[in-house]
Amino acid sequence: MYESNHLLIVLVEEKCAFQRKGVLPLKFVVIGAGIAGLSTAIALCKVGHQVLVLEREARFNDAAKGGCRMSPNMIRILYQWGLRDKIRQVSVRSKGTSLMLFESEEYLGKYRWQDEVMRELEADFAFVQYADLRRLLYETALHCGASVRFSAHAIDADPIVARIVLESGECLNCDVVVGADGTCGLTRKMMLGVDFEGKKKLQLMKMYSTTVSKEVIQNDPDLSYLYKHEYGEQSDFMMCIYGPYEWESALKGAGPSFQKLARLVFSSPSISCAPIGNESVLDDWTTGRLVVIGSAAHPLPSGSSQSLALSIEDGVALARQFSRVRYEGQIERFLSAFEDIRMPRSMAIHAKEIGMVHYMSMQASEEQELRDQSLRAKRDCGINPYGLSFMSRASCPEWVEMVEIYGYCIEDAVDDWWATWGNLDEKSRANGEMPSTASIRVSIDSFISDVHES
Ligand SMILES: Cc1cc2nc3c(=O)[nH]c(=O)nc-3n(C[C@H](O)[C@H](O)[C@H](O)COP(=O)(O)OP(=O)(O)OC[C@H]3O[C@@H](n4cnc5c(N)ncnc54)[C@H](O)[C@@H]3O)c2cc1C
Repeated sequence: MYESNHLLIVLVEEKCAFQRKGVLPLKFVVIGAGIAGLSTAIALCKVGHQVLVLEREARFNDAAKGGCRMSPNMIRILYQWGLRDKIRQVSVRSKGTSLMLFESEEYLGKYRWQDEVMRELEADFAFVQYADLRRLLYETALHCGASVRFSAHAIDADPIVARIVLESGECLNCDVVVGADGTCGLTRKMMLGVDFEGKKKLQLMKMYSTTVSKEVIQNDPDLSYLYKHEYGEQSDFMMCIYGPYEWESALKGAGPSFQKLARLVFSSPSISCAPIGNESVLDDWTTGRLVVIGSAAHPLPSGSSQSLALSIEDGVALARQFSRVRYEGQIERFLSAFEDIRMPRSMAIHAKEIGMVHYMSMQASEEQELRDQSLRAKRDCGINPYGLSFMSRASCPEWVEMVEIYGYCIEDAVDDWWATWGNLDEKSRANGEMPSTASIRVSIDSFISDVHES
């Protein structure tokens, strides 16, 4: 008896690991069971809220075997959720990145993740298959107490009363609606309104991604050199290729082993193909009791190292903010605060990641020549391609960037907001509301007495 009670307490404590005293438990409905939706469900359950996730797919899709990059700022969150061992089981740790030219296959140097840096960041840089990560988050969300409904296609949402209408005609009421339904979803359309068609993405290129077995690569004399690199000897080969829409014509210019690699991508039964467009970060992320997160709010090119990370950070930020909710009147203000906290980071990362895709996929031009010359010069001097020097960190912009992007702690960002604005705002409202009601009464009383006297 004691044993089972004890177990129960441990489980409850684990589920509500960060729950503050006095938090008002709210009902959240999250539209979309992608990485953003499931992470948000985990984070919100952990601080004591009730979460229902709606997914239009009929069942969990394990077929999406495309590869994803997990950056240190994202992995640190997953480790904090107690998923270190599970993440290590499904992912491959990256030791570094080699750069080669697509056309000539010229080697332009390698960037190596330093153990010392990873220790400081308390994280890793790793690769994972999309379906494996999503399944892990799905199972964790259920374990934390969230409900996930499949075949639940949201076709309308009323942000004022927090109500969602499903294709089946069913209406769901809640306290907060979270739109995690991706770039083409309902909630991004709602936020853009008539602008949605005008701002629809211009499809610039595609990201093809898949995993090829180690044997296939190793048995091919033109490709086996890939496993001679000191990175990733133990596992299958993940490929993520950005290419123009007319892929066949782009392949004509590629070196022979890249042609082979690309053909392997196309022959894979589990290829994932995502369009890369020019979608921008939404100007507004909240209206009434609706908040839009993940790629619905700030679409990044699939495969970029921050596309998953930003989505997971959104979930943690929302939960951290709502770990302080004490009465209903705070809901809209908390959602606006969430937007204030997340918008600058999303915009900065968006610009950087779009710039990185452009940098990596330049067409033949003067700019591309300059890029290659600079990389060759670094390679010949033994400097890593991103120019990171560990000798003089303080004066090294790359180091600062590394700390700002990978060392970023979203919970600290929310707490900083509270320390600067939140507590002040709450206090001024608490102080302001009561005296203002009293002062209205005083002035009405004095008005009445004035009238009587006159
Ligand atoms: C199938 C798939 C495979 C992917 N593969 C890769 C990959 O290999 N590498 C990579 O880097 N990135 C991949 N991505 C993209 C990556 O997941 C996103 O860039 C990032 O994780 C942010 O995702 P998100 O959760 O905001 O949106 P999304 O990943 O787009 O998820 C949105 C979810 O909402 C659901 N949905 C949409 N509209 C509704 C609605 N009206 N009602 C209910 N549910 C709705 C969708 O079915 C989807 O599950 C993939 C995305 C998908 C959907």
